[in-house]
Amino acid sequence: MSEDESITPRKILVPIKELGSNKECPICGQRLGFPALSRFDNETEVCSECGQIEGTGYLFSNFNDAQRELLMELPKFAAGVMTPWELHCIIINAIAGSRRGIAKKMEQSFDQLKHYEALRAKVVAGEITEKELSKHMKQD
Ligand SMILES: [Zn+2]
Repeated sequence: MSEDESITPRKILVPIKELGSNKECPICGQRLGFPALSRFDNETEVCSECGQIEGTGYLFSNFNDAQRELLMELPKFAAGVMTPWELHCIIINAIAGSRRGIAKKMEQSFDQLKHYEALRAKVVAGEITEKELSKHMKQD
């Protein structure tokens, strides 16, 4: 490897998510993409992952029988406290588990990387200086 190759900046690979809807899923907040119809009312558009969870979440989750029964009993306890839709969102997000938070954080990180990559390109093009780039990075 030559000296030049050793200092070549590594290309950041950011997943391309340009197809489908950019609206947020009303259940999880992630990008709708190619939405599914919610089983809740058969008209609200949800992301495909929430759609899958609605369809099979009770069967294919990490919950044991007692936890699953508690989720199914929640509507009794929450009646009058929140709307059936709000309750539905809690249950679907509970089934999805903490993995959802990680996915959202990853998406935000990829957006930030794309932003830095665009700024890096401006440095290469001579539009901003290295110092201005590091100033931007400290602000974020
Ligand atoms: Zn969703």
